[in-house]
Amino acid sequence: MEQRKPKILYVEDDPASETLVRRILGSEGFQVVSASDGLTAIEVARRELPDMILMDINISGLDGYEVTTRLRTIEELKNIPIVAVTAATLSGDRERALIAGCTGYIPKPIDVDTFPDQVRSFLQGTREEVTSAEEKAEYLTEYSRRLVDRLEEKIRQLEAKNQELQRLDKMKTDFIIIAGHELRTPLTTIYGYVQILQANPAIPGSPDEPGSPRFLVEKMAEATWRLNQVISDILTVSLIDANKLELARGPVFIKPLVMQILEDIRRAGPERRLAFETEGLDELPMIVGDSKRLHQALWNIITNAVKYTPDGGHINIRGIRIDNAVKITIQDSGIGIDPEDQERIFDRFYILHDVSLHRSSKTAFKGGGLGVGLTVARGIIEAHGGRVWVESEGRDEERLPGSTFHILLPIGELKEESR
Ligand code: ADP
Repeated sequence: MEQRKPKILYVEDDPASETLVRRILGSEGFQVVSASDGLTAIEVARRELPDMILMDINISGLDGYEVTTRLRTIEELKNIPIVAVTAATLSGDRERALIAGCTGYIPKPIDVDTFPDQVRSFLQGTREEVTSAEEKAEYLTEYSRRLVDRLEEKIRQLEAKNQELQRLDKMKTDFIIIAGHELRTPLTTIYGYVQILQANPAIPGSPDEPGSPRFLVEKMAEATWRLNQVISDILTVSLIDANKLELARGPVFIKPLVMQILEDIRRAGPERRLAFETEGLDELPMIVGDSKRLHQALWNIITNAVKYTPDGGHINIRGIRIDNAVKITIQDSGIGIDPEDQERIFDRFYILHDVSLHRSSKTAFKGGGLGVGLTVARGIIEAHGGRVWVESEGRDEERLPGSTFHILLPIGELKEESR
């Protein structure tokens, strides 16, 4: 029977040395796997469970000493030979390697003639030891000091990087906020003029007569209105990100908000055969909140229900008071959402569908958006001290299990000054 080839992991960041060792050991009947940095080495070692590890000490990230110390905490790798292979020639390198957990030490450049025998001897159980207990304690102290120094240095670097990232992130958020405002100002003007045109009875034709002036004006109104929604969502996400979302609190009645949204949906998109049902909204108490923002949040969730429910489906919007809160549930009979996506869909820019198939529409079946709708909804609801989550059996475009979004909003109290 053919003997199993001993498997050796060679940790080395210099490709020339890696190739050389691979050749030598390969021709001697060893199987060689390699890794070029510390973290990869740990990953490969865990996965491959080699019979022996040859460890270059000067590698990037975690160095060879640290990787060895880490590997010794993994049960399956506790007792395999780990041999330092290094060009470092400082006195005490051998002892340092042994203290960190290495079995032995092979200096670089390796001697091509004796190298295979050295490897075989470590595989057969050769172990080097630090001779005196005193020396051992000294090197251990030095090693732990060095670890702390390196840790401190790494934390400093990470903190500096983190600050830089925060600065860039703030710049990006500021840019989006400014760009959003800059876009919105002319858009408001256009929208105003379009509305004037819409109200002008002298505009000939009808909205149902493609190509007629009235039809064109209606299309312009729809498009500017949609653009306004998109800009609103982008601006809101940026404000949520920057922790700058401010609420203009006042009395809010949920029912008219929902009814307005359903009316807008009918106006906004192509005719969809969907049955809308509402329940319990009349009995909901007035709550304190920012009605514009809540409109935006509900709009995003309800238009999603429309987008992800095929024609013939139904959407049910229920309201109920629970202690000092109101609960609104929006249940659709659409394609549903897989359990593993149910939290992620609230992340910004999270889109489940293939972006290359993106169709921009607020109401068409599976018409895509920017992937910020639910982020905005959650940000607004949480700013009100509320919660939003989704329940669904999973995604199935045939069986249509549907999704149910739950929104919990505290009723709240009007403060003296806002009364
Ligand atoms: P988008 O702008 O893409 O609609 P959202 O943040 O509103 O972004 O939603 C994120 C993703 O969550 C959507 O791309 C969609 O896959 C999924 N999703 C949201 N609502 C529903 C729903 N009611 N039914 C099925 N999937 C949904």
